[in-house]
Amino acid sequence: MKKLVILGQGPAGISAALYAVRGGADVTVVAKDMGALAKADKIENYYGFEHGISAKELIETGIKQAQNLGVKIVKGEVCGIEFAADGYKVKLADGSTLTAGAVIIAVGTSRNVPPIANIEKFEGKGVSYCAICDGFFFRGKKVAVIGNAAYALNEYHVLKNIIDDVTILTNGAAPTFDDPVCNTKKIQSFEGGETIDEVVYADGTREHFDGVFIACGSAGAFELSKKLGMETANNKIVTDENRATNIPGIYAAGDCVKGLQQIAKAVYDGMVAGTQALKYLKTLG
Ligand SMILES: Cc1cc2nc3c(=O)[nH]c(=O)nc-3n(C[C@H](O)[C@H](O)[C@H](O)COP(=O)(O)OP(=O)(O)OC[C@H]3O[C@@H](n4cnc5c(N)ncnc54)[C@H](O)[C@@H]3O)c2cc1C
Repeated sequence: MKKLVILGQGPAGISAALYAVRGGADVTVVAKDMGALAKADKIENYYGFEHGISAKELIETGIKQAQNLGVKIVKGEVCGIEFAADGYKVKLADGSTLTAGAVIIAVGTSRNVPPIANIEKFEGKGVSYCAICDGFFFRGKKVAVIGNAAYALNEYHVLKNIIDDVTILTNGAAPTFDDPVCNTKKIQSFEGGETIDEVVYADGTREHFDGVFIACGSAGAFELSKKLGMETANNKIVTDENRATNIPGIYAAGDCVKGLQQIAKAVYDGMVAGTQALKYLKTLG
């Protein structure tokens, strides 16, 4: 059976992994950190704990439970998912890739839109959230990537393959890499007419750009889904009742899908996505 790669080791990703591995799938979970539960203290509304349980213990125990059943856990930041000859390629920030017959996206809620004036006004009019989708439209033009870490660097390299004039603007943050050299000025607004024309910095200076690619923090559900042409609504991935997206073999679960942002719902979503992804993998042989 082809492999299942799950993005995220929160309750949704781990629940999916438990069901899929017990059904015989080869499962790898890739995650960059402990997700939403890292910010939580005690959990008192999840089934089965007489006196509640610390969020840290709940998440760590879930991960160990999956590992004990044979799930591989890889620490890494996912920058993109791409179509491959026999399924999908999951691209990590360190340049490595994981191949998969099916993918479950369980990356939680974050969407990193920087507070820059007019950003929404120019979305689709020069402001993009996906280098691989939209870079082509800016060949021979001057573009910027907004961000300061691995994801911004990944988008920079994607664009550099097709565009000569690419600059990373960190918007006041220190870059986490030395090469390429970035413009670290704080950004105040985007200006233009029908499409974006200028980035206005907080010091009052202005610079012309034909396009701006937003890549702050790490890739969230919104950015990952854009790269595959996945349907989204209100920053959530759209799925059917089987947690299947509109792309065959790609499922989504947990906080990145519509509904209550609670552990019990994430675990339910994970169960559905895990069992459905397993069924799908079996059809591939
Ligand atoms: C402060 C706080 C308190 C809460 N208290 C409760 C409570 O008492 N009861 C309750 O039911 N719920 C509570 N919640 C909500 C609960 O934590 C979430 O509903 C639940 O964790 C969602 O699970 P998930 O698996 O969808 O996402 P998450 O738990 O957020 O997991 C997301 C996973 O995706 C990974 N990830 C994200 N992006 C990438 C990337 N680009 N590359 C690789 N990995 C990535 C993360 O590292 C993480 O492993 C609380 C949330 C917060 C913030």
